[in-house]
Amino acid sequence: MRLNECGLAKLVTMAKAGEISPLDVASHVVAAVEARERDLRVFLDFDKDELLQTARSLTDSGDYRRTPLCGMPVMIKDNICVKDKPISCGSRILTGYKSPYDATVVVNLRKNGAIIGGKTNLDEFAMGSSTENSAFGPTRNPWSSEHAPGGSSGGSAAAVAADMAIVSLGSDTGGSIRQPASFCGVVGMKPTYGRVSRYGLVAFASSLDQIGPVTKSVEDSALMLNVMCGEDANDATSLPGAVPDFAANLDNGLKGLTFGVPRDFLEVGMDESVKDNFDKLVTNVQREGARVVDVSMPHAKYAVACYYIIANAEASSNLARFDGVKYGHRTQNDDDIYAMYVRTRDEGFGDEVKRRILLGTYVLSAGYYDAYYLQAQKVRSLVVADFAKAHERCDMVMLPTAPSPAFKLGEKIEDPLLMYLSDVFTIPINLAGLPGVSIPTGLSADRLPFGVQFIGRPLDESTLLQGARAVEKLVDFREKPFA
Ligand code: GLN
Repeated sequence: MRLNECGLAKLVTMAKAGEISPLDVASHVVAAVEARERDLRVFLDFDKDELLQTARSLTDSGDYRRTPLCGMPVMIKDNICVKDKPISCGSRILTGYKSPYDATVVVNLRKNGAIIGGKTNLDEFAMGSSTENSAFGPTRNPWSSEHAPGGSSGGSAAAVAADMAIVSLGSDTGGSIRQPASFCGVVGMKPTYGRVSRYGLVAFASSLDQIGPVTKSVEDSALMLNVMCGEDANDATSLPGAVPDFAANLDNGLKGLTFGVPRDFLEVGMDESVKDNFDKLVTNVQREGARVVDVSMPHAKYAVACYYIIANAEASSNLARFDGVKYGHRTQNDDDIYAMYVRTRDEGFGDEVKRRILLGTYVLSAGYYDAYYLQAQKVRSLVVADFAKAHERCDMVMLPTAPSPAFKLGEKIEDPLLMYLSDVFTIPINLAGLPGVSIPTGLSADRLPFGVQFIGRPLDESTLLQGARAVEKLVDFREKPFA
């Protein structure tokens, strides 16, 4: 049995029973990375010797058996800080920069027995839906090398799909965990805003960003959340309160759950094949004993427009810190300080990041603030209200994760608007700060995965995961990208 193909829950059980060691798992993961990295280009940093060495010392000590994650490796999106490791955010502007500290989520993972593995590829500063905006070139979709793995956490999703990782971390500002999970046929979960500390996540849009796991099953996501969540003094937006055991009710099944389908929002359109896959699933869920009700989300169709004002406004402010003084790249060409700022940023940032800084600065400028930024905030509150109303009638809303299966590399990169529209179904969830999880629900005629996402009530990841787990069992998706 190849251990890199197993999920976290199974590996933890076997490790606890003394059947396998962290070194066994790390060795299989390293072998898969060596076999596949050249084709897929998942990692921006991967130190196999360090991974094996850490796994060996944990194995020798035997202590791993007393920790929840039992010495299993976790790959990390390269916009999350791992102490003393380079962090690029997929950008040239951070050339040469190393993280001076561990992100809180990394601290939590280590405390619970994880080994921190390689850093995965992403769109520059997590801005994009395909990893094509990475300054270091795109990652390829394990299901088809001509196709994008999705983005921005494309490296994290492709790594899990290609069994080069057991689990990985992504970040989701407008869909960046769920959409690549859907494109790669794996599970991607965005917790409630504030569930996981953002300390040590390089900020893109602070009111939307959230870290979450990419895994091979819903159960694995629950195990990851169990060790990732919690209030953090270093992040004022992290939420207080006890963290439940997210794995406790996983097997309670579909009965008693109500799923809401927002037919009015689905009218924004999607590929026929996506619609078919989604509609069949809705029918099955109902047949298997869940209640399915229609809900209405009249404002969700404005979410993309609203998001590109709010996210870019926040990005223009967050990215002001990359000016050649404190972080990474500084131009060689600096006759005065102003020219130094300008040239550093011109040389360091890619086109998409520049586009967003320009748009974000514009919508915040004196004459336009009311017309754009303030207006977008009002629309945001309407989207929040749509969900609140929907959740009065159902436990979770159900939507396709993306309007199409994976698109081809190069297909949308010249047309930003087209690229932005690939997030129609994920963005509203970030605006509302809600938990959402995408699971694989089948394959298209050309063997590309479909994903469906479930959106829960604020802080009710437990019920959400219970529903997603029940649907996962029903779908029983077992396909693999490699024959
Ligand atoms: N694709 C969206 C964007 O480009 C979302 C990105 C994300 O969630 N980080 O902004």
